[in-house]
Amino acid sequence: IAKQTGKNRYHIFDIKHTRPSNEPNQTLEALHQALARGEFCLHYQPRVNMRSGQLVGAEALIRWQHPEHGLLLPSAFLPAVEHHAVSVTVGQWVIAQALGQISAWQRQGLDIPVSVNLSARHIQNRDFLPSLKTLLDSHPDVPPQRLELEVMEAHALEDIDYAARMMNACRELGVRFALDDFGTGYTSLAYLRRLPADTLKLDQSFVQAMPSAPGDMAVVEAVHGLAKAFHRRLIAEGVETEWQGEMLLAMGCELAQGYAIGRPMPADELSGWASRWQPCESWRAWAGRSLSP
Ligand code: C2E
Ligand code: MG
Ligand code: MG
Ligand code: MG
Repeated sequence: IAKQTGKNRYHIFDIKHTRPSNEPNQTLEALHQALARGEFCLHYQPRVNMRSGQLVGAEALIRWQHPEHGLLLPSAFLPAVEHHAVSVTVGQWVIAQALGQISAWQRQGLDIPVSVNLSARHIQNRDFLPSLKTLLDSHPDVPPQRLELEVMEAHALEDIDYAARMMNACRELGVRFALDDFGTGYTSLAYLRRLPADTLKLDQSFVQAMPSAPGDMAVVEAVHGLAKAFHRRLIAEGVETEWQGEMLLAMGCELAQGYAIGRPMPADELSGWASRWQPCESWRAWAGRSLSP
């Protein structure tokens, strides 16, 4: 069942196949055990300014170092427990871990803002805000602005009033908010005005369709226009080729993450990566030019 990907690093594997039955209870039990045994870890994907080459932050992405199946991607184990309380427990662990990492980087003289992904179930939890506050209080050296919470646009739209209240409350604590996979949830202008997210993360499907699909190019341009009009930061996800990066720069979008820049990696590799990384030649050419308005 376990198949290896091209890079031989990950196993494409679904945890439910290890069980005779696909009972959520068993997956839940397995996740609780994995938490207790310390088998989860976070990998960090750099996000950069493609023009200046500056590292502007990192996205924390959960992995499960499974004793039998190797390193598992979130798609192998998160969807099965999406609606269960354990996803709150996992989410708490992720935030705590990310704050610890920001703090560790700070002690090394590195200022790396980190964004973490939260499940809908987690932010709907009544203890979400007090727990977040407790976690922030336990890391007094970390400015809350260095933490960003990513929620999928589609999830935020399920209950927009709730999402808006939550985002406002988090921002009062100093924590930033991002709408992940933006563009897939059919957000109207009116909705975006009500959602106080700091960052829009352009979904990778639009980036990867460039430049073959003119419709998708139009979406990229429209989202860029929206971000500008509403004074939100725009980050393009899933930049896989130099050409895609160039197209984004030509449209005025300079912040990005993707395999063409850097893959998710263990925390201790990130500073070395940052000191070696150089933007592509064609991206650097934009350093002297002004981006489209
Ligand atoms: P996402 O937040 O949209 O994260 C981007 C995903 O795209 C990551 O997959 C990342 O490794 C991958 N990616 C980055 N650059 C490229 C690229 O250039 N090309 C392609 N094809 N893919 C790229 P990953 O790590 O497997 O995570 C998948 C999803 O799982 C995430 O999507 C996020 O929704 C969720 N997830 C990850 N970590 C967590 C977590 O700690 N908690 C929760 N609740 N969800 C998480
Ligand atoms: Mg994300
Ligand atoms: Mg995304
Ligand atoms: Mg996604």
